[in-house]
Amino acid sequence: ELEHGDALAMFRAAVARNPGGDAVRYFDGRITLRELDELSDAFAAGLLDSGLAAGDRVGLYLQNVPQFVIGLLGTWKAGGVAVPINPMNRQRELELLLTDSGARVLVCLQSLYRDVAADVVGRTGVRTVVTTSELEYQSRNDPRAFGGSEHIDVPGTLDMGELIGRFRGGTPPPVAFSPDDTAFLTYTSGTTGPPKGAMNTHRNVVFNSQAYREWCNLDADDVVLGVAPLFHITGLIAGITTALLLGAPLVLFHRFEPALAIDVIREQRPTFTVGSITVFIALMNAPDAERDALASLEKIWSGGAPIPPSTVKAFSATFGRYIHNIYGLTETTSPSHGVPKGAEAPVDDASGALSVGVPLYNTVVRILGDDGEELPPGEIGEIVTSGPQVVPGYWNKPEETERAIPGGALHTGDVGYMDTDGWFYIVDRKKDQINAGGYKVWPREVEDVLYEHDAVREAAVVGVPHPYRGETVKAYVSLRPGRSADEAELIAFCRERMAAYKYPRQVEFLDEIPKTVTGKLLRRELRARG
Ligand code: ATP
Repeated sequence: ELEHGDALAMFRAAVARNPGGDAVRYFDGRITLRELDELSDAFAAGLLDSGLAAGDRVGLYLQNVPQFVIGLLGTWKAGGVAVPINPMNRQRELELLLTDSGARVLVCLQSLYRDVAADVVGRTGVRTVVTTSELEYQSRNDPRAFGGSEHIDVPGTLDMGELIGRFRGGTPPPVAFSPDDTAFLTYTSGTTGPPKGAMNTHRNVVFNSQAYREWCNLDADDVVLGVAPLFHITGLIAGITTALLLGAPLVLFHRFEPALAIDVIREQRPTFTVGSITVFIALMNAPDAERDALASLEKIWSGGAPIPPSTVKAFSATFGRYIHNIYGLTETTSPSHGVPKGAEAPVDDASGALSVGVPLYNTVVRILGDDGEELPPGEIGEIVTSGPQVVPGYWNKPEETERAIPGGALHTGDVGYMDTDGWFYIVDRKKDQINAGGYKVWPREVEDVLYEHDAVREAAVVGVPHPYRGETVKAYVSLRPGRSADEAELIAFCRERMAAYKYPRQVEFLDEIPKTVTGKLLRRELRARG
């Protein structure tokens, strides 16, 4: 019956089943399901008191802290729509999202308000700012606490703790969502153009929370590690809403840092997580990456960016844990495809790519050729996905919606194929193809080969201008600590392993490969370097 409910109904059912169970754990702080229900009731009552009306947008500009979850549930209980915002955004980006979404309320950390938001909100439609201390819900004695230990005075804003205290015990009037109402507007990171707000509906959210439960074989005994940023669709669904559906604890820590993550995993013993390749590479290279460090984490998925088969192998050699691949977009409310628990994704002999899995139930995926014709198994084309997790559109962008999601079928911009057993493979993003003198090169394939080299920590391949070939293949590489390799060696390594038109002609070494917080390569920045 859940498939027809809304995200709040999902949470309420979990509270009714196990009110005393932990909902959120944050270092030595704990919030039970019943407390989370009360805190979010009080927050919703406060929002309504400040004038929030049904359908109003509430910006959540926060790190991975418990206040994010309270803010999200409180927004829903007040009948609002949440707008998760990357806490790394600076003034320009924050203003753009607040203006585009027409947010009326902004919830943010005190320090983010002081350093970034204070200058911006006056130019937007935001009427109420709720700030919260970094240290709320965490012991002030924990040496890993972040932010200053002082409560900053932020005039002109409401304090979240005070607001909740004032309305504690009150219950906001019940709201009823239709499954097609928007639960949150999630903004794409803009690697392909200006950010667009995908309207993830309650139906989308409930469906994909259940999809995680089924595909990853989860139940109320699991403990969810929220390693992906909560503002991103992966963190929202694989972290918050799946934990709420299960009534399982969500373990949070404010910022991903490998030693801290290993510490938290040892203490809190999470069983399930969905992260990105950056997270898994960082964990492997952490000084305390010992074989038993992730012992409790039996259910691991990687999504949001490609993962080379060699990384899956190396991770398993380090920690004895298999990384399952999962694939989706903001517009598919996290996954549309995944490797089910218990299965291992095949690696295609010909391309060397690791499969992203099979489509989730009720999800129809077609591979379309350049003229829109449907291609048979084995042929490469654009991945077009329809299903209960696909958003109905972008906020206030009917033309973009019509272009990307005609008739409810999402044209992903990803190029891939299906094998004869029904496993899917992503070749690359359409726009990242390199045209080297007429030869088409997919950067992913070259990166996968570079990752096989022992000294390579991370690799990114782009096309750079070339006088005769139009474009030529260039690799940016960062090396593993204590390892060395030079340009000629890496070029020779690739040359032995791929067709002559594909191997990189130039290799440049960087300390860090520029990426988004969700692990996506910023190829645009690399191309601009030339
Ligand atoms: P923009 O559209 O602005 O670039 P974005 O990068 O934030 O936004 P997301 O929705 O976060 O978009 O990312 C979706 C993309 O991530 C997919 O289209 C695909 O290219 C890539 N991706 C996600 N999971 C995988 C995976 N398992 N393997 C390969 N690629 C993946």
